[in-house]
Amino acid sequence: MSEPFDRYNRQILAFGEDGQRRLCGTKVGIVGLGGIGAFVAQMLSYLGIKDFVLIDDDIVEESNLNRLVGASIEDARDKAPKLEVAKRVILHAHPQAIVRGVFKNLRSEEAIDSLAQAPDIIFGCVDNDSARLILSELCAAYNKPLIDSGTEIINDGGYQEFGGRVIVARPGDYCLLCADQVDLEVARQELESDREKIHRQVLGYGLGEKMPDPSVVSLNSIVAGLAVTEFLMLVTGLREPLRRVTYKGMRGVFRESTDKKKNNCFICNSLVGKREQAGIKRYARTGLPTDLPGGQR
Ligand SMILES: [Zn+2]
Repeated sequence: MSEPFDRYNRQILAFGEDGQRRLCGTKVGIVGLGGIGAFVAQMLSYLGIKDFVLIDDDIVEESNLNRLVGASIEDARDKAPKLEVAKRVILHAHPQAIVRGVFKNLRSEEAIDSLAQAPDIIFGCVDNDSARLILSELCAAYNKPLIDSGTEIINDGGYQEFGGRVIVARPGDYCLLCADQVDLEVARQELESDREKIHRQVLGYGLGEKMPDPSVVSLNSIVAGLAVTEFLMLVTGLREPLRRVTYKGMRGVFRESTDKKKNNCFICNSLVGKREQAGIKRYARTGLPTDLPGGQR
């Protein structure tokens, strides 16, 4: 290790030199560098991760400045890519870090190739079902654990939800389909081409325009902290990672789930280790793949 190990003294007290060495040697992919992903990138860099693949095609807007750690008003004025903000935060902690940014949608050959290659572990910090589906298939096919985070805030004047959850999907053990975290009908509609969307809307069915979800910095930080903590468990071996951790903010409680793989799960049973044969790049083409799980397979 070329850098002084002293900076990790307080962590070594927690998980030992061997644990720290493993952390420093782990390569990470982060998909989605919004409210949660920005925290994940920041925490991982302070922990000692120095090799990142960042995937995001979005730019900073003024409405992000309530929660996007590292972002400035200048970033919003310059319409800076969100992944450039995360890259700056990482390099601030570790000037020698290797950060490969792919300023493209997950549905691109570049994004899929980058994730299939370097990273040992992938963080999903996305806000839609189709990205969760693609990441689930990709991580199973290339044998990489996927740590997926999401927040949920419901404020409809009645009962309010204010919480989130983290899923640790290890290939063949558990996935986001097993966890019921992918609505396949929603994913299907998100994956349609513009022409397919118009055709469906002319027929008068389907989802309406997606409204922005509420997002609060403190909740993003809790969920990102849970995701990075499960990552720590996975890498250092301090304990087995939990398949699902849920935070229920209205009651102030954390819950561990004892969920298991579903016997008939297509991803866990059929895609693990299939690499190119799994055909993840079919998602890089416009329009709806004809062989989505639960469809014609
Ligand atoms: Zn599964």
